[in-house]
Amino acid sequence: MENKIYFDNAATTPVRKEVFDVMLPYFMEYYGNASSIYEFAKLSKKAIDKAREQVASAIKSKPNEVYFTAGGCEADNWAIKGVAFALKNKGNHIITSCIEHHAVLNTCKFLERNGFEVTYLPVDEYGKIRIEDLKNAIKDTTILISIMFANNEIGTIQPIREIGEIARERKIYFHTDAVQAIGHVDINVEEMNIDMLSLSGHKLNAPKGVGALYIRKGIKIDNLIHGGGQERGRRAGTENTPGIVGLGKAIELAQAELPETVKRLTYLRDKLINGILENIPHTKLNGHPTDRLPGNANISFEFIEGESILLMLDMYGICASSGSACTSGSLDPSHVLLATGIPVELAHGSIRFTISHTTKEEEVDYLIEKMPIIVNRLREMSPLYEDYLKEHKEN
Ligand SMILES: *Cc1c(COP(=O)(O)O)cnc(C)c1O
Repeated sequence: MENKIYFDNAATTPVRKEVFDVMLPYFMEYYGNASSIYEFAKLSKKAIDKAREQVASAIKSKPNEVYFTAGGCEADNWAIKGVAFALKNKGNHIITSCIEHHAVLNTCKFLERNGFEVTYLPVDEYGKIRIEDLKNAIKDTTILISIMFANNEIGTIQPIREIGEIARERKIYFHTDAVQAIGHVDINVEEMNIDMLSLSGHKLNAPKGVGALYIRKGIKIDNLIHGGGQERGRRAGTENTPGIVGLGKAIELAQAELPETVKRLTYLRDKLINGILENIPHTKLNGHPTDRLPGNANISFEFIEGESILLMLDMYGICASSGSACTSGSLDPSHVLLATGIPVELAHGSIRFTISHTTKEEEVDYLIEKMPIIVNRLREMSPLYEDYLKEHKEN
């Protein structure tokens, strides 16, 4: 696919050359098991230790508070189930939001079937939770607050620092799914009072199948994966050395480039958003106008279906998404968009464009040029649009 234009970086990203290069030796050359005691295996252990420092330095934790996992879903499952099981004698109430990734939502549903009580906080029209709602939801039995750092569909960034403060005051653990935020937002687990934080490699140019959970020292949490003594006895399974090495490098690069990335992506994102909203009538930006990920644009197009837009975009070689990758394939409108209060029809006509440091300005210009053509063509065939035009002639 030479001529594709990739606007789906929230679904996954390519592995960067610099990342691939540092991973390579750990496949065929330094393949030792990091748990073995001879010098050759220590090369693997050293590489993993270095990656742990790279991750810790990006989120301002200590290296021994970073645990590698097989991705973001596992980190989310571990944080929530691990705390729930460890603290079940203290309380059974968990607070989360209704716009979380399914890794969090379905973990909470599982716990509800197993004796836990979960409050799903609503969000405002921009996709933000209200601090008052959070305060009101806290009970004596609340053991965990899990609120995502930034949403994968609409890009809204939550008031993490304020949530952290409240959790700390009330002595409740605070977990955040930062899979989309890492590399795009400055994160400091100390200043933000974050007790646990999930991240994933493949959303920031490391490979798929590797991630990490930050667990603040002293947090009571059960293991999720039982077995050998890897990851200081807390996460069994022979370490994915190449993946972990790649994750470390990717985070280091993303962190070093963060200010430049934020500046450039914000410029391109706003150009994309304005280029569409100003040139196509009956469109609406979803998510928060400013407190949003620098790479995320989510736009609703009235009278037409997101799926049809995606097919037309595909004909121009443009990759985008109509919701999160896990829900495409089903016809249910996105739970995130519905939670912001937009009508079902509008949710059905929504497209997420997510850009990254590899996005070129010409690609954004190309999209802005093609989008009106696509929308006009689909609206010409839309009975909803026909009805709308008739109504507005009569009045
Ligand atoms: C992608 C994603 C996940 C899942 O990460 P995997 O590494 O694919 O398991 C979890 N949360 C959010 C917000 C995501 O975007």
